[in-house]
Amino acid sequence: MPLSYKQRQSHIRKFLTSTKRLSFFIAFGIFILFSGISILFNYLSYTSQQQRLIQYISKEEINSFNSSTTALNINAQTIFSTVIFRDDIYKLMADAFHNPGKIRDLKRQELLTKLYPEYQILKTEKLRQLHFHFPGGESFLRFHRPELYGDNISHARYSIRLVNQTHEPVEGFEEGVIFNGYRHVYPIIYKGEFVGSVEISFSLDAIFNSIVHDHNEFYGLLLHKEVIENKVLSEEQRKNYKDSGILKDFLIDKAIQTQTQNSLFDNSKSEQNRIPQERLDELHAAVRMEMEQKFHNDCNNYSFIADLHGDNYLISLFPLKNIQNIRVGYIINYQAQPGLKILYANFLKNSLVIEVLLLIISVLMYFYLSHQIYRHRRLKKMARTDNLTGILNRAMFKRALKDSIKSSHGSRQPLSMIFFDIDHFKKINDTYGHLTGDKVLKKVVQTIQAGLHHTDVFARWGGEEFVILLPDTTIEQAEGVAERLRKKLENLSDFEFKITSSFGVSDLQPHDTADSFMHRVDELLYIAKERGRNCVAAMSSLSFAQID
Ligand code: GH3
Ligand code: MG
Ligand code: MG
Repeated sequence: MPLSYKQRQSHIRKFLTSTKRLSFFIAFGIFILFSGISILFNYLSYTSQQQRLIQYISKEEINSFNSSTTALNINAQTIFSTVIFRDDIYKLMADAFHNPGKIRDLKRQELLTKLYPEYQILKTEKLRQLHFHFPGGESFLRFHRPELYGDNISHARYSIRLVNQTHEPVEGFEEGVIFNGYRHVYPIIYKGEFVGSVEISFSLDAIFNSIVHDHNEFYGLLLHKEVIENKVLSEEQRKNYKDSGILKDFLIDKAIQTQTQNSLFDNSKSEQNRIPQERLDELHAAVRMEMEQKFHNDCNNYSFIADLHGDNYLISLFPLKNIQNIRVGYIINYQAQPGLKILYANFLKNSLVIEVLLLIISVLMYFYLSHQIYRHRRLKKMARTDNLTGILNRAMFKRALKDSIKSSHGSRQPLSMIFFDIDHFKKINDTYGHLTGDKVLKKVVQTIQAGLHHTDVFARWGGEEFVILLPDTTIEQAEGVAERLRKKLENLSDFEFKITSSFGVSDLQPHDTADSFMHRVDELLYIAKERGRNCVAAMSSLSFAQID
């Protein structure tokens, strides 16, 4: 049967006031405290592991990127020293420089014919541009567009201006009107004269494709709109770019995205290399949110984790600087990181194991504490009470007496004491045995207790002698109480014999100490015995002194 509200409340109240309540709160408190500490430590260790992993991966990414650019540089140098750095090519360039007009056109054609086979091979190796220029920056021959020449490109190309000035090779990323990539420009110095330069360039996708570790890694290049718009002049040229779809200030170079195997922005790739468009949108949204909230557009590498329905992606942004050391955008990289999920699962697993262990320890502690507290309380109670009857013992009574005298003296409220002794108890023991004697003692205590006020202090003085302290009670009232109690005992019908007792009653006087007060009621009890037992002898000190 379900418990009523009142019953439930009473059960709860009982529980809360018991030993179990204290044990429960201690064990629960310890559980909460240690749970908090352990979860905190576990979480800190999880986040530091996560940070280490992120740092490790992004460092690896940067290293890969750097070694790829170094490899490209070596590649460019090899191309330069094996294909370009030849006496016939240098002489041809010098002749073209010194002879504008028809001879120059012939030389252009000659150069194209000479290097075209090599150019075709190098194109398959990601070479994007092989471009010769004269010292002023005038274009001599573009292998990718041989028909277009004579224009001056130095205004748009810092690298060319730099080589013209220093006559030293220059390398690095450079944005261009049409092409963005890693450019390597070498001076052509024939017989001590600077006769022009040659550019050997690779597209960024050459780098991206060489560092992609697996199919779960995707690259993109975000270019600052401002930087591109400064370079790109015509509407036609602007068509090479589109909005990134991530942030409004960034554009992407269509050419790079379509040529990169794992491009973030081109979904026309093979099934294996594709990120589903939906996931891509989510990732872009995560980047947008992160960049809007936390990213301060500074020049540091920046990595963070995007959690998409339990799939973790590490998103990294590497600032990309051009030859002029101006930041032109970011290389952005998305990598699925199942390792992070495992790390999180481990964190949960560890927390769970610790929590279960703590719970077991707390439950054991709860039982241990309940037992200990119960024992402690029982021992304390035993030290205060009489074993047989359960009422206060003599020591506790003495303490109560001292306290009551003190407060009565202070408040000038009356305080009375009744001392009583069962008559001829020895005879009961002798006749009916000690067990019956014990039963009588218990019955007497029950009977007296039932007739007392809850503020009264009732104790066993020793043997068959009992004492009652009655606060706020005059001697007349106390005498009445004693008389009532005497009658109650006399009228008990639980035994085949009668039980009678003798009572001494007195009240506290201003000069009284605990001993003098106690001594007087003891004397009065003796008087009651003298008077033939089963009676009450009550007197205050004054009249008692007169009798004495
Ligand atoms: P009086 O009327 O003069 O008080 O006579 P009395 O026999 O009651 O007094 P007495 O002091 O001669 O005897 C008290 C007896 O009480 C002696 C003792 O064996 C008995 N007694 C004391 N404590 C206990 C107890 O715990 N259980 C039992 N059964 N008897 C006890
Ligand atoms: Mg006695
Ligand atoms: Mg007696």
